[in-house]
Amino acid sequence: MVELVASGLKREAQVFEVASNLATIPEIVAGSVTSYAGGKFGQDPVRVGTAVRARGLTPNIHLTCVNQDRVSIQKTLRLMRALGMLNVFAITGDWPAGSNTTPVFDLESVQLVDLIATLRAEEQIPFHVSVAISPFKYTREDALYQYLKLEKKIAAGANMAITQVGWDSRKFAELKRYLDERGLDIPLMGNVYVLAQRAAERMATGSPPGCWAPPKLVSDIQKESTAPDKGKGARLERAANTVAVLKGLGYAGAYIGGTHQADDIRWIINRARELEPQWEECAAQVQYGDPDGFYLDSAPARKATRTFLPVVLDAAGKTMPMPWSKNPADTAGRRAMRSLFSWIDGTPPLRNAFERLEYWGKRAVFGCEECGNCVLGSMEYVCPQTCPKQMRNGPCGGTLHGRCEVVEQECIWVGVYQRAEAAARVPELKRFIPAPDRHLVGTSSWINFFLDRDSRPGHPKPLDASTAPEDPGRHLRKPERKPFVPKTERAPA
Ligand code: SF4
Repeated sequence: MVELVASGLKREAQVFEVASNLATIPEIVAGSVTSYAGGKFGQDPVRVGTAVRARGLTPNIHLTCVNQDRVSIQKTLRLMRALGMLNVFAITGDWPAGSNTTPVFDLESVQLVDLIATLRAEEQIPFHVSVAISPFKYTREDALYQYLKLEKKIAAGANMAITQVGWDSRKFAELKRYLDERGLDIPLMGNVYVLAQRAAERMATGSPPGCWAPPKLVSDIQKESTAPDKGKGARLERAANTVAVLKGLGYAGAYIGGTHQADDIRWIINRARELEPQWEECAAQVQYGDPDGFYLDSAPARKATRTFLPVVLDAAGKTMPMPWSKNPADTAGRRAMRSLFSWIDGTPPLRNAFERLEYWGKRAVFGCEECGNCVLGSMEYVCPQTCPKQMRNGPCGGTLHGRCEVVEQECIWVGVYQRAEAAARVPELKRFIPAPDRHLVGTSSWINFFLDRDSRPGHPKPLDASTAPEDPGRHLRKPERKPFVPKTERAPA
């Protein structure tokens, strides 16, 4: 599969010409049409995909959550069905570059896969869903959560996984082994990015989000760029080596990016075929990771220690029927709480006072944003609203060494994983957390919980206009919240 970057800068006609050329290469099964690549507005991927298909190439349409809410995403999916385009690459998407762009992020990737799988089942639309996975994470929690989240995507209905860009055979092998050991039989496509000097230097700083070029790779490419062909031969050879390694490891295919030249792609494929018998030697040529970073096969056992807050809240959850108690039984205590909260809910001054009390208490402790659908108990008491993209099922792929893609903070999922590990509850993190009912923003999540109004694990609400944001993006723009100021520059990693 070849990535077709439908960027705003590139004339659509150029992309169509590329598609026509790629359609003549029998080994290419599809063109993957990007949307919001690197956080930048691009051409409409559905429109581009339609034209790509008219030129004989099957499109795989990137569908992101950046600027569409649940209703709009379903419209796009129905449009795709009407146009006969059924291959979807379901991703959360990068935070938009430029401070004037207001994103939506109503859903995230796991919820998006769930939504597509529901349409597939209920309306018999045979969507084929690919999802993203980044094995190229070199800090413990970041790496382990990526794998765990892939398991959630598979459980939600993903058909295929495509890796993030990376040049580390050991990590490609790690991902394959992780899935094989768990009996997760999903085709894998390995990303083969033809990396030139300028892009390598940008990726050295973690830009675009989730793409990291290690120092050794950058310096090798800089040296190669002094050759008369400006390093082109070396980078195509590296790409061919990577394709051979993927074949040897048992990947279903390669996802080639970084070039739109049909001749280059043809060369890579032919050269990879020659290299296949010695793929293990090729693996030594594609070994650009972090030698001191986290690898599953050499990770030392860790004894994590529990911290004060989760211990106290666990104890409170056991003694009281609180939302985080995870006890679904209809106990006498719960019935009493339901009566109490019904009465509070029916008495507006009391309800308003209670909402304020809950909000300010939880804001001080958890950074609560009053989403109205509290899932603290499913996220080790870390509030999902403290993540700029409001992810509820695990980190996005944009982290760099455990740091957030959007703001200067540690990724909130590092803390979630550490707490779960300390409490021996990592398997519980695999539980699907549905999208919140956005109509409940600003209301008491405790009242909503006891009156069964909220959307939470085990009690999902429909993804339609009745739960969609009334004002897309409002949940990202609460007045009390300090606005997220996207990073403009990162220091070299
Ligand atoms: S109610 Fe929502 S915003 Fe508040 S702590 Fe719970 S999950 Fe976070």
